[in-house]
Amino acid sequence: MAFFDPTATVKELRGTFDSGKTKSYEWRVSQLKALLKLASFHEKEIIDALHSDLSKPELESFLFEIALMKTGCKLALKELRSWMAPEKAKTSMTTFPSSAEIVPEPLGVVLVISAWNYPFLLSLDPVIGAIAAGNTVVLKPSEIAPATSSVLAKLLGQYMDCSAVKVIEGAVPETTALLEQKWDKILYTGNGKVGRIVMSAAAKHLTPVVLELGGKSPVIVDSDIDLKVSARRIIAGKWGCNNGQACISPDYIITTKDYVSELIDALSSELEKFYGKDPFKSDDLSRIVNSNHFHRLCKLLDDDKVSGKIVHGGQKDITNLKIAPTLLLDVPEDSLIMNEEIFGPLLPIITVNKLEESFNIIKSKEKPLAAYLFTNNKKLKEDFISNISAGGLVVNDTAMHVAVSTLPFGGVGESGMGAYHGKFSFDTFSHQKAVLLRSFAGDLAARYPPYTQKKQKL
Ligand code: NAD
Repeated sequence: MAFFDPTATVKELRGTFDSGKTKSYEWRVSQLKALLKLASFHEKEIIDALHSDLSKPELESFLFEIALMKTGCKLALKELRSWMAPEKAKTSMTTFPSSAEIVPEPLGVVLVISAWNYPFLLSLDPVIGAIAAGNTVVLKPSEIAPATSSVLAKLLGQYMDCSAVKVIEGAVPETTALLEQKWDKILYTGNGKVGRIVMSAAAKHLTPVVLELGGKSPVIVDSDIDLKVSARRIIAGKWGCNNGQACISPDYIITTKDYVSELIDALSSELEKFYGKDPFKSDDLSRIVNSNHFHRLCKLLDDDKVSGKIVHGGQKDITNLKIAPTLLLDVPEDSLIMNEEIFGPLLPIITVNKLEESFNIIKSKEKPLAAYLFTNNKKLKEDFISNISAGGLVVNDTAMHVAVSTLPFGGVGESGMGAYHGKFSFDTFSHQKAVLLRSFAGDLAARYPPYTQKKQKL
C-alpha cells in the first residue's frame, strides 16, 4: 500500500468539487462511459482477480459482478438527463403567485467503503450513483479481496478523472484514517459491528450514512408449490451466489413437519445435479474467502447443539478452504448457527406444525435484509407482505430483487439504513434542494406588523 495522506486526498477532491467541473452533465457522462469501458476492456482481468480472491465461477463473476455493474451504468447514462432535471412542485395560496421546484444537487466529497464478497460490484455500483449525482468520490475496496482491490485501484487510476475519483486500498488503519475526515456522505457495505464504527465516526462531522449490512434472511416454504422449481431457486440464491457468501443468501428455511422430508429430498437431488456427487470437484462453487471465515463456519457446524443434525453434505476441506453445500434439520433455536448470520454454504431447516408460526420465528429475530416465501396461497402471500419487515421481500424466488433496478436495495433496522440501485443511487448521493420562485407581485400586507386585530381575523 502506497503512502497516502487522507487530509490531502480530501482537500484535492474538495478543490475539484468546488471548481464545479463534476456538476456538468458532460463530465458525469464521460465518467460513466469510462466505467463501462473499463469493465468491457478488462473483463478477463476482473474475472481472474475474482477467481484469485474467491475461486468465483466465471459465469457468476460475469453475471453478478460485471454485467450487473454495466447494467447500472447504462441505466444511469440513459436516464441521467431526467434524473438531473428539476422536478416541479405544487405551491399553495399562501405564496401566490409563485412557482416551486426540487433541484437535485451533488453533496460534495463522498466515501464508499465496500466488502469482499462481491468486491467488484459492491465497489463500483455505489460509485456509479456518486458520479451520476455529480460528486467526487473515494472508493476503499475490501482488503479481504486483495486481487480485486488492486485491479480496481489500477483500472480506476487509468480510466477515471483522477482529480475526482480515487481508490484508496488498505485495511483497518487506512479506513480509520479516512473515517477521521469530513465527508458529505459515506456509503458502507459490510457487517453491523463496523457499521457502528462508521456511523460513530460520521456523527462527529454530522455526515449522513448509508449502511448496507446483512442479517439472517429466512425462506418460508409452503407445501402447495412447484417443488422442483422452488428447490432450484433456493439453491441458486444460496450456493449459486458465491457459495452462500452473499448478503441476501437464504440463511435458514422454515417449513412444516409434514413437508420437510419432501423438501430435503428435492434440495439434495437438485444439489447433486448441479454440483455432482463430490461438490469439491465442481468448478461452479466459490471457496470460503479465507481461513478465518472457514474456521468461523466450522465452529457453527461443530457446535454440540447441532451434532447429528446434518442431513446433507457437511464435508470440509481445509487445504482448499471448501465446505460442501450442507443442510441441517431442526437445529435448536439457541444454537450458534441460529444466532448469527451464516454467510456460507450451511442451510438449517426449522420445522413447524403450521406455516403461520414461521412469522413469529422471523419476528423474534432482528429485521433481515431479505425474506422469501414459496407458496401459491394468496392469503399467505398477503400476510407475508403486510407482516414481515425486511429490506426486501421476494415471493417464489430468492435474491432476484437485486436485479430489479426500479426497486430500492437496502436494509431496515439491524440490516442497514438507506438504499441504492438505479434512481435510488442518484438520490442517495444528491441533496433535494427546495426552490421557491416568487415575483414582486402579491405582497400581502397581512404578513407584516403591526399585527392588528383586523389582520388576525384574516
Ligand atoms: P469486510 O471484512 O470486507 O469489511 C467491509 C469493509 O469494512 C472493508 O472495506 C474493511 O476494510 C472495512 N473495515 C473492517 N474493519 C474495520 C474497522 N474496524 N474500521 C473501519 N473499517 C473497517 O466485509 P464483512 O464485514 O466481512 O462483510 C460481510 C458482511 O457484509 C455480512 O454481514 C454481509 O451480509 C454484509 N454485506 C452486505 C451487503 C449489502 O449490500 N447489504 C453486501 C455484502 C455484504
